Amino acid sequence: MASGKCLALIAHDQKKDDMAEFARRNRETLAANWKIVATGTTGGRVLDAAPELDVTRLKSGPLGGDQQIGALISTGEVDALIFFVDPLTPMPHDVDVKALMRLAIVYDIPMALNEATADRLIANLHA
Ligand code: PGA
Repeated sequence: MASGKCLALIAHDQKKDDMAEFARRNRETLAANWKIVATGTTGGRVLDAAPELDVTRLKSGPLGGDQQIGALISTGEVDALIFFVDPLTPMPHDVDVKALMRLAIVYDIPMALNEATADRLIANLHA
């Protein structure tokens, strides 16, 4: 059972395979230490990859899921954010993406924007 620390997961479409692989690779650490909130499609992919994880799926990102996670950050309910951003594709919800990153900075929560950082963050934060 997760300890209650909350990790937010989001991956843009071109990064969803990477997020699924991240979840599979880190499934034991994630299952033991984190409850997860995720945007809708990302959360589905994470659960497919690691069904034992405690994942709450919010709205899809372009339909408000990024803003939901931002709101959870602002109320102190998210302890870390892993957000696999696609740097090569224009997004209709780019303003939401920027707003979410801004809130993670405002509230000074650990935020990983790529796999290399995410692996290190997970390895360090559960200790
Ligand atoms: P999704 O949202 O997980 O529902 O695809 C992610 C995003 O594009 O912000």
